[in-house]
Amino acid sequence: MAKFVVIGGSISGLLASISLSRQGHEVKIVDPTASNTDLDLEKRFSSRQKGMAQRHHSHAFLAKLRNILRSNFPDILDALLDAGAFEMPFMEFLPETILQKNSEPDDVDLVGIGARRTTFETVILGIAQKESGIDFIAGEILGLVASKNTCNPTKIRGVRTKNGDEILGDLVIDCSGRNSERNKWLENLELRGETIEESPCPIQYLTRFYKLPSSALFPEPDGRFAGDFGYIKVGIFPADNGFFSTTVGLNDRDKQLKGLKNPEAFDRAMLAFEHTGKWLRIKDVKPITNVEVMTKLKNRRRRPVTLNQDGSLVGLIALGDSLMHTNPLYGRGCTISSMQAQELPKIIDRSNDETQLIENWNAYVGKEIFPYYDMAVFQDAQDFMTGENGGTPPKGSLSYVIKEGVVPASYVDAGVYRAFIKAFNLIGGPFDLLSDPEVLATINKTISKRESNTWQLPDPFGPAHDELVKLIENSL
Ligand SMILES: Cc1cc2nc3c(=O)[nH]c(=O)nc-3n(C[C@H](O)[C@H](O)[C@H](O)COP(=O)(O)OP(=O)(O)OC[C@H]3O[C@@H](n4cnc5c(N)ncnc54)[C@H](O)[C@@H]3O)c2cc1C
Repeated sequence: MAKFVVIGGSISGLLASISLSRQGHEVKIVDPTASNTDLDLEKRFSSRQKGMAQRHHSHAFLAKLRNILRSNFPDILDALLDAGAFEMPFMEFLPETILQKNSEPDDVDLVGIGARRTTFETVILGIAQKESGIDFIAGEILGLVASKNTCNPTKIRGVRTKNGDEILGDLVIDCSGRNSERNKWLENLELRGETIEESPCPIQYLTRFYKLPSSALFPEPDGRFAGDFGYIKVGIFPADNGFFSTTVGLNDRDKQLKGLKNPEAFDRAMLAFEHTGKWLRIKDVKPITNVEVMTKLKNRRRRPVTLNQDGSLVGLIALGDSLMHTNPLYGRGCTISSMQAQELPKIIDRSNDETQLIENWNAYVGKEIFPYYDMAVFQDAQDFMTGENGGTPPKGSLSYVIKEGVVPASYVDAGVYRAFIKAFNLIGGPFDLLSDPEVLATINKTISKRESNTWQLPDPFGPAHDELVKLIENSL
């Protein structure tokens, strides 16, 4: 048994702590909000916390995350469903335009979870509160405690809170999110900081939550949860207990659509897209929040100093957003946190000492986690190519293949639809979408038909850019 100090008690801190506690370890979670033990879903949904704006945005909980819960934390999955979240079997929601429906045995693994982010977090918190190996300590970490000897690597022995308390453990796990101050803490100890790589995400994220009247049901799903219209991305997120949200990914450079931040303009725009409009048109649906906006989003990863270099460390690792975070449009953050949470105890088990533990953790992160950073940066760069007002991306680019091949083929072909859903839900490797020869052949055929004008897309299910600009102007 070892003793761990976890900085941050949100999704990654909670999942990692539960995972460690169930392997017989002792965990102390330190978070400024730890004294708030109230598990009331609605109170948590309406409360705000500085630096945690993402809590009030739509969250997709991907099939890979649901599968990790099902096999490693089945009680969390059950508790989520009991709390009003629900499973979304994507292969049962095929678009009507797919006439030849087929099923495959592993379709049972293509199931996501519909829930508000606050519900997801609250349920995990409730489970963590019951774990005998987990203690919650209310406090803000301002620094790390290092061993006094000056040997290389330096041993991190614990953390220091704002009150000056020291909390010591065998390993400190930084789960303090995307704004982690780890480098500042290291520099205060005169240690070398980690290398930070980052790239801007080309979008702004706008979300509004709504609630159905208690008598109403969600509309019949038809596979169209999101649409990429080139100039804008629009998604609908069914959630727990009659809540749902719509989210818009707006090109950062598109000044003409800034008016969407206005709640009235936002609602009118959402009514104009077929897949969101049918939700907003349900009788007596009420907006519950304002239009929440997040800007200046980044892909960011932090590479620790390697163990044979000056300034290298043992006794400290990063997990969740504090290690790496990527464009929220891809909906991967919580899934990637859960992957790390389930892997950490296994890595601890097979490491003979703290040096090997760091080596094994870094090797795992390099192999299984960081490729998602490369993928996000690549996808964002492709997205830039589509330009401000949509249009066709350059021939030969991945964007072109997606827009002219994958998307149209997924409207009519169950195999391509399945491959697309798998890729989005991280079932398989990060670059697997185009690896199945049959799927690839269908995509290539679709591109050829589109290029020879013998294959038209089904009717667009949303307004063109200029129509939307007019609609917004008329609402302001
Ligand atoms: C707009 C937006 C939309 C997103 N959509 C999705 C999605 O659809 N699907 C998905 O899976 N992911 C999504 N994400 C990503 C997801 O929200 C994150 O991956 C997830 O929140 C990471 O959790 P975390 O626990 O690592 O960090 P956080 O949730 O940021 O939590 C950090 C915790 O650390 C605590 N803390 C911070 N500093 C200190 C300190 N000094 N001392 C002690 N405690 C501290 C905070 O109080 C907090 O509890 C989205 C992100 C954004 C920004």
